[in-house]
Amino acid sequence: MKLLEIKDLHVNIEDKEIIKGLNLTIDYGEVHAIMGPNGTGKSTLASALVGKPGYEITKGTVLYKGKDITGMEPEERALEGIFLAFQYPVEIPGVSMINFMKTIIDARRKHKGIDPLSPVDFLKLVKESGKLVGINDKMKGRAVNEGFSGGEKKKNEIFQLAMLKPELAILDELDSGLDIDSLRIVSEAINNLRTTNNSFLIITHYQRMLDYIKPDYVHIMNEGKIVKSGDKSLAIALEEKGYDGVMAKN
Ligand code: ADP
Ligand code: MG
Repeated sequence: MKLLEIKDLHVNIEDKEIIKGLNLTIDYGEVHAIMGPNGTGKSTLASALVGKPGYEITKGTVLYKGKDITGMEPEERALEGIFLAFQYPVEIPGVSMINFMKTIIDARRKHKGIDPLSPVDFLKLVKESGKLVGINDKMKGRAVNEGFSGGEKKKNEIFQLAMLKPELAILDELDSGLDIDSLRIVSEAINNLRTTNNSFLIITHYQRMLDYIKPDYVHIMNEGKIVKSGDKSLAIALEEKGYDGVMAKN
């Protein structure tokens, strides 16, 4: 059984079909990168996978650990270990990121039938995860995403990953807002978080990011479908020839 098996997925936003028959299989321990022109449905795919309201799956199946999740509530999917880093500020006034994390972690543990994390172990986890991405204590105490710069937001996303350890981590526009140094730090942190049990779906525009992360598979998405899949060399070809050049070679 694979971790994720998407078959013939169709997704509408406000009655307009955006995802038009997408197939994608992700196995445990794999890192997949999706690239593709703007407006092609990459973010829509990410949103549909986590069950964001407004994204209507009209056809196809999404099996996660063998279970069809298309009818599952977003909260349930999160509890099952599917995680889309909150890309844009989730306004939760007065709730510090740390408290927010603790709530989610304990909810997931409860779902698995385990006791809440002890305060000591939680603090240890906070420390280790913070160190991984170079996040400081001041940032941890801030309200969720409040006044974070682009780079800080991305580091915060990886901090969330390190804390929550989802089985399927979806990272949309991972490279946006990152300078060269942050790109390296974020990529290395992701590499450190890789295990044989968790998988990553990374949506990115730049081949440079994939130099560091080294995905197992690279997919090119166009007009709501995956039109080409390959290994890292596909991303390099893309950098050289552009989307038209690579897609024309089919
Ligand atoms: P990508 O992430 O590949 O750039 P998106 O998934 O964001 O593409 O968008 C795919 C298409 O869906 C675009 O044509 C976009 O205009 C449309 N779209 C995205 N979000 C919405 C929305 N909330 N309402 C209407 N159309 C949307
Ligand atoms: Mg997008």
